[in-house]
Amino acid sequence: IILQLFVLSLFSSAAFSQSSKAEIDKKVSELLSKMTTEEKIGQMTQITVTNFEAKGKPGVFDMVKLKEAIQNYHIGSILNVPNPGAPTIQRWKEVITTINNESNKTRLKIPVLYGIDAIHGSSYTLGATLFPQQIGMAATFNTDLVKKGAEISAYETRASSIPWVFSPDLDLPRNPAWSRTWESFGEDAYLSAQMGVAMVEGFEGNDVGSKYHVASCMKHFIGYGSTTTGKDRTPSIIPERILRQYDLTIYQAAIKAGSKSIMVSSGEINGTPVHASKHLITDILKNELGFDGVVVTDWKDIIYLYTRHKVAENNRDAVKISVMAGIDMSMVPEDYTFYNDLLDLVNKGEVPMSRIDDAVSRILKMKFEVNLFQNNIADLKDYPKFGSQEFIDVAYNSAAESITLLKNKNEILPLNKSEKILVTGPTANSMKSLNGGWTYTWQGENADVLAADKFTILEALQNKIGKANVLYTKGADLAVEDDLEIQKAVELAKDASKIILCLGEKNYTETPGDISNLFISKSQIKLALALSKLNKPIVLVLNEGRPRLISDFEDKMNAVIQCYLPGNEGARALADILYGDVNPSGRLPYNYPRFPNSLEKYNRKYTESLGDEEQNDDAQYEKSYSPQFEFGSGLSYTTFAYSNLNIDKSEINNTDNITVTVEVKNIGETAGKEAVLLYLSDKVASITPEVKALKRFAKISLAPNESKTITFVLNQKDLRFVGNDLKWIAENGTFKVQIATLTKEFVLK
Ligand code: BGC
Repeated sequence: IILQLFVLSLFSSAAFSQSSKAEIDKKVSELLSKMTTEEKIGQMTQITVTNFEAKGKPGVFDMVKLKEAIQNYHIGSILNVPNPGAPTIQRWKEVITTINNESNKTRLKIPVLYGIDAIHGSSYTLGATLFPQQIGMAATFNTDLVKKGAEISAYETRASSIPWVFSPDLDLPRNPAWSRTWESFGEDAYLSAQMGVAMVEGFEGNDVGSKYHVASCMKHFIGYGSTTTGKDRTPSIIPERILRQYDLTIYQAAIKAGSKSIMVSSGEINGTPVHASKHLITDILKNELGFDGVVVTDWKDIIYLYTRHKVAENNRDAVKISVMAGIDMSMVPEDYTFYNDLLDLVNKGEVPMSRIDDAVSRILKMKFEVNLFQNNIADLKDYPKFGSQEFIDVAYNSAAESITLLKNKNEILPLNKSEKILVTGPTANSMKSLNGGWTYTWQGENADVLAADKFTILEALQNKIGKANVLYTKGADLAVEDDLEIQKAVELAKDASKIILCLGEKNYTETPGDISNLFISKSQIKLALALSKLNKPIVLVLNEGRPRLISDFEDKMNAVIQCYLPGNEGARALADILYGDVNPSGRLPYNYPRFPNSLEKYNRKYTESLGDEEQNDDAQYEKSYSPQFEFGSGLSYTTFAYSNLNIDKSEINNTDNITVTVEVKNIGETAGKEAVLLYLSDKVASITPEVKALKRFAKISLAPNESKTITFVLNQKDLRFVGNDLKWIAENGTFKVQIATLTKEFVLK
């Protein structure tokens, strides 16, 4: 009977969602048929909430302006956070209610869709649970945790009466200097796709219209993270073959997972701004991939087509180009020039009504899907878990599984609680550095004040071993050299048995984070070198959004820990790892470069690191390729032994799957978690093969002496690459499977 009930309930929920899809389509076409051209074009406009603030009165609505936008211009969407940032859920409720009251007065009562950059948790709501930034979530190699985090983020965003988040970020940072590297899942397309899917599933659940889920927005379509210079919003050169083999696969996976919207990249690829590319937006995204959600521009990007990119003479041209390229919603056209120009273009027949109807149908569909017509103001009673300990624990676990131990010479870690330590460095006592950007405000500058009840690294260590055992001085500023502070750190270090040196970056978001020099700042290098002369063990803790080069002093550090931007619970997790109460299990989601001119990815081509000598074998190639730390690096306090790597067939044809098994045993004395990574190499191919590529991963837990057999199933798709004709192919020949140091080969015939 139980089974029957289960089957019945499965069946009825499927039937429900199917009929509701048909119902939604019907509602959309009914509503659309009642709309005037002006009302339709208004729906395509998204304005920042700060536009409606009364002059000189942050956070106070100018009701005349709001009324004008909603009643006269019929705007469909509002985004962003009112000044001075970080509203509580109560305040958000007031904000959204004020907007809602206006839309209720319109002829068709179409509610305004509010969107927010809830990037690492509901990061624009005070008291919400803040997770590690995406780069850290990638380092967990744990899709369950990522999904849980997004679920919590969705819950807390709906608690803020907001149904739409501009997340996940699916960019591939090909140049690690890129100032948004930390917003991504790192350099690997497969890892990014898996994590992106987990996040979309967490945000949207099985019912995106429920009061605990939100619509996600994949961004920034496409190639945004691949700027040649590493500076934000600068040009990229990406052959379509590469775009298809890597970037597009990530979007494809997230679209399949159901993501309801997508944001277009502000960049240009091969000379065409993506906002002007019909090929990318309409031909590939909408037609080829079948994406039927909303395509929103990025901030002011239609305007930028004529002011920055210079592919349009004026705003009218820019509007025409981008709408005809396939964009559905214009984010922040500043005023009503988008509305006025588009209206004129439609009236003069330069943009067909069919294009407008396509855009507006998508927007209305999303409004119905998130259940906005019924469910757009949160009843705060429904959200008892907002900011709860249960949620905080998930953020803590995420930080604990992300923090990556990269070096542990002579097993200096874990530390001994009875020893006196010196904690120093500019990131040691900063909630801003722990959180990075998109935290309470755009640049996250208020985190020290607004998260004052959370622990900085210094506070977490004081809490852990008692204040008496922790000496502290800042030691250096992030940018400015301060010899007196360095001297103070050196003096204090004499009384400590070990030094915890906390270096990294300040908080930044987008272009303000552009750099010309990938090395960590000079002031910090100076501090590290001064301390290293004391011959005391140093544990280097990196708190940074991208790999800032440390090759000037890394050899003088006894241990190196990367904690990325671990969020509000990160310092507690770090302290627990430093003292062995948590066993580290994070793995690096990118290659950490050693030199500024050696930015190879782990899945490089053989000729990317030829070195000086004539190369004859793979071992030599490996030798001349030496990132500071490789993608996938990450140590544990225990030892995992890998054995019995097996594949079920040594020869396959072009329909077979291959089952790979491997045994992993914890042969140390501490329980631990391990990310098991499976790489594949195509030994010879008509397009130069990658040295190796990640194809599967699993995160497992093992008690001392425990062993587990892990099974991975590879399929034909895993053997394919995109050929010069832009089609996926698998070529006959030998493939190598690699897990840890074990390898096995099979032949595709
Ligand atoms: C960023 C987007 C963000 C948007 C809205 C833009 O500047 O590039 O990632 O979602 O602003 O805040």
